[in-house]
Amino acid sequence: MLVRTATLIALMLSIVGCATNPVTGRSQFMIISEKQAISASSEAYVKMLAPLDAKGKIDSDPALAAKVNQITARLIAQAIKFRPETQTWDWRVKVIDDPETVNAFCMAGGKMAIYSGLILKLQASDDEIAQVMGHEIAHALSAHTSEQMSVALATDLAVTAFAVTRDEPGVALAGASLAAALAIKLPNSRVAEAESDVIGIELAARAGYNPNAAVSLWEKMAKNSGSNGEFDFFSTHPAPAKRIENLRKLVPKMMPYYLEKSTRPVYPLKSGEG
Ligand SMILES: [Zn+2]
Repeated sequence: MLVRTATLIALMLSIVGCATNPVTGRSQFMIISEKQAISASSEAYVKMLAPLDAKGKIDSDPALAAKVNQITARLIAQAIKFRPETQTWDWRVKVIDDPETVNAFCMAGGKMAIYSGLILKLQASDDEIAQVMGHEIAHALSAHTSEQMSVALATDLAVTAFAVTRDEPGVALAGASLAAALAIKLPNSRVAEAESDVIGIELAARAGYNPNAAVSLWEKMAKNSGSNGEFDFFSTHPAPAKRIENLRKLVPKMMPYYLEKSTRPVYPLKSGEG
C-alpha cells in the first residue's frame, strides 16, 4: 500500500494532472502523458500478442488479415488528416483468431487488433468492420487510452494487475504497461464513447465506408450481447439506449463525406498533446 501510494504521488507530482482532448478540445484527467501511454502500450501490445502468436492465433487467416489491413490502412490515412502528428505513430493491426470473442481495440499510438469472433459472429461487412475500427482509432486519436491508463494508475494497481493476469496468466507486465493493458479492458465513459462515435463514423465515411453501417453494426452488437465472456465489446463499450439513435442522426451529416462531396471536418483540427 505504502509503495503504491508513493508511486502514485510521484507520478502525480511529475506529470500534469489534466490535458485537453487533441481532437475535441475536452478537458481530460491525465496523470500519464500521451507519449508515455504510447510507449507503455507498445510494450503491452507486443507482450499480449506474443503468447497468441506462439499458438498460431495471430493473422492465421491470410485473406481475413489482408482485408482488415486494407480497411484500416484507409482509416489510418484519414486519422492522420485529423491529427497530422500521428503520421509518426507505428500503426499496426492484427487479427486475433478467437471466434468466440466479439471485440476490437486500438491502443495509444495506433496498436490495433480485432478478434475474428467480431467478424464471424456478426457476419460483419467491410463497411461495418470499418465502423468498428474507425471507432477504436477515434479512442486513440482522442487520447482515451492515456485517460483510461490514468484512471487505472490512480485507482489501484493491485486491482489492475489482477484484472489483466486473470485473463492472460502468461503475460508479465508491470507499471505503466500493465495500466496500458488494462486501459483497453476498462469500460469507456459515455463522453468518450460519444466522442468516438462521432469521430469514428466520420473517419469511416471519409475513408469511403457507408455511414449506415454504424447503425447496422450496433444493431447486430445489441442482438449478440450477452453471448460472450466479459472481455467483449459490450464490456468495454457501454451502450446507452440512445446510441443507435444518435448514430442514425449522424448518417445524413456523414453522407457527403462518404460521397466525396465535402472535405470539411466536424471538429476543428488541433495539434500537440495539450
Ligand atoms: Zn468505444
